[in-house]
Amino acid sequence: MIESPRPTLLFATHNRNKAAEIARMTDRYDLLTLDDAGVTADIPETATDLAGNALIKARFLHSLTGQACFADDTGLEVDALGGEPGVRTARYAGPECDPDRNIDKLLAALEGETFRRARFRTAIAFIDEDGSETMFEGVCEGAIANGRKGDGGFGYDPIFQPEGHHGLTFAQMTMEEKNKVSHRGKALRALVRFLNEKR
Ligand code: IMP
Repeated sequence: MIESPRPTLLFATHNRNKAAEIARMTDRYDLLTLDDAGVTADIPETATDLAGNALIKARFLHSLTGQACFADDTGLEVDALGGEPGVRTARYAGPECDPDRNIDKLLAALEGETFRRARFRTAIAFIDEDGSETMFEGVCEGAIANGRKGDGGFGYDPIFQPEGHHGLTFAQMTMEEKNKVSHRGKALRALVRFLNEKR
């Protein structure tokens, strides 16, 4: 059992930036990552959809600790590619999950394509101490730029232009601007609302 003065919420990630992003949204919980909880395993993401992968990760953590926990999974859906890369977004250009190669492959796949509509989707699976499971989702509509723009953010940020931001990419926006409209920001706000109301 992990001792803490506030209720503890475990987040199935090794990514401290993501954890910091979420920690800023609620002060009622002590947010602990896999590393904080001493879990070193890389949890396999073998489901065929985002919600399934989020559930695999959350169930793994809950079975290990018996504590309230959650996990997220994000995918980029490009309409001209029939929704690809979707659940394979991280490994689009190979198992190394290299963001530069992922972007190169996507830009090449859309070479000469004028219909560039796309969306980011985040699924969050929350499992309470008693084992009850609740799913949340956040979607950000936008388009794939013709090339990289901006230095901020991570992953596909330099080529994703969220709707209503005059063609700016996520990589050209501040973290605060991005979080207001992003897939993960929306899914997280839904989780935080649920936690603040229900618990
Ligand atoms: P994960 O589910 O957070 O591991 O993300 C899956 C894939 O989507 C990885 O390639 C990430 O780099 C990418 N990704 C997730 N969220 C974002 C984002 O907010 N901007 C750009 N790429 C993202």
